[in-house]
Amino acid sequence: MSESVLSEIRRVVGLAVLLLIVGLLTGHVALFLLLGVLAYLAWHVFNLVRFQRWFETGKRFHPPEVWGVWGEVFYNVYRLQQRNRLRRRRIIRMLQRFQEATAIMPDATVVLGGQGDIEWWNEAAGGLFGLRFPQDKGQRIANLVRHPAFAEFLAAGDYSGTVQFPSPINEQVMLAVRLVRYGKEHLLLVARDVTPIYRLDQVRRDFVANVSHELRTPLTVISGFLETMADEHSGYPQQWARQWGRSVHLMRQEASRMQHLVEELLLLSRLEMDKGVHRREVIAVSGMLAMISEEAVALSGALNGEPRHIFSVVADSKVCLCGNNTELRSAFSNLIFNAVQYTPSQGEINVRWYADESGAHLEVQDTGLGIAAEHIPRLTERFYRVDTARSRDSGGTGLGLAIVKHVLNRHDAQLRIESELGKGSTFICDFPLLLTVRVDSIKAEHVTPLS
Ligand code: ADP
Repeated sequence: MSESVLSEIRRVVGLAVLLLIVGLLTGHVALFLLLGVLAYLAWHVFNLVRFQRWFETGKRFHPPEVWGVWGEVFYNVYRLQQRNRLRRRRIIRMLQRFQEATAIMPDATVVLGGQGDIEWWNEAAGGLFGLRFPQDKGQRIANLVRHPAFAEFLAAGDYSGTVQFPSPINEQVMLAVRLVRYGKEHLLLVARDVTPIYRLDQVRRDFVANVSHELRTPLTVISGFLETMADEHSGYPQQWARQWGRSVHLMRQEASRMQHLVEELLLLSRLEMDKGVHRREVIAVSGMLAMISEEAVALSGALNGEPRHIFSVVADSKVCLCGNNTELRSAFSNLIFNAVQYTPSQGEINVRWYADESGAHLEVQDTGLGIAAEHIPRLTERFYRVDTARSRDSGGTGLGLAIVKHVLNRHDAQLRIESELGKGSTFICDFPLLLTVRVDSIKAEHVTPLS
């Protein structure tokens, strides 16, 4: 109990005793006690009114001089108010500094509420998204930024990556947008102008596509002539054949390697350029795998006629995939041909196609060379090869897995690579449930014995 309350109690007791004595002396105890209580109550009501008036109008000023317990009440409330005022000033200053800092940030920042409604934005956001104050405050961001890529990203709820799309007010400006969750339901939208990087990337893509395209025709002509020379050199004098026969053979080999490289570069460019726009159909993957595997068997036996590997293809023919036939064929061929190329003789190659509750999966497993863990994250980079000389010797371009990755991306699928050096590798393509089609009328398991 505080000192002022104790002294107030002492005062009340003293007053009561005094009134009792006066009452006893005059013979009017009850009257004096009643008058005393009324006077005490009146004093409290008077101070209460003063307190309320001061609190409502003049609490910023020093409290009036008040005696007794009320003096302490006035003083404590005054101190509390002062402390709160200081704290509020400090918070406002901090908020102002934060707003000043975010306002001059070159990245656009927009604070979104639980329903995607715009609560606050900085200057850069006004410039990049065309947001105007006060009309756009409280509007839903999805109504103002209507690009399909952004709408899909916002609805997906997985904000781990970024999404790129042109600015809604200037098609020439490319934005990279991130969403970050904070608080209970708020979202922070951060957008960056990536036009220079995008243009540079476009120049690179155009350059590769143009060079590849320009190289294609002369290479076809050279290959054609070399073919003719190889066909006819058997009819040439023996000395000519001895001198040039091997050179023609080498030239044909290199020309065909270059043609293969150019074709793969063109395919990659195409995959990169027409983002998301590709023809989709329902594909009987088991049939496609049977055909690719036959080619793989031929590749495996290319040297001595007999396949060097033990093949098995287990494919659920009831499971089909909604996708682009040409692209998927190219991706699956790359994985299966790689297994042939990087598995020594007598090794096993197992291809499996099946579906489960998460979607459809293609598994290409081999008992080949395997890949050291440090190379695995980089395998899908263009021209990344674990052993460049070996890859080149076997006709590899270093683009196969980059193509696989692009094709899978375009089908919302993922590539998983599990491998152990010296033991073998497994490449798994996980397709989403959305693209998996079950055809129940077809017979169940389709096993192709290939060796
Ligand atoms: P490449 O044309 O060289 O085969 P890819 O992009 O298809 O290019 O593969 C990249 C690299 O990954 C290859 O050079 C090889 O080192 C490694 N690789 C791919 N598939 C396998 C596999 N099944 N077993 C072992 N290594 C592999």
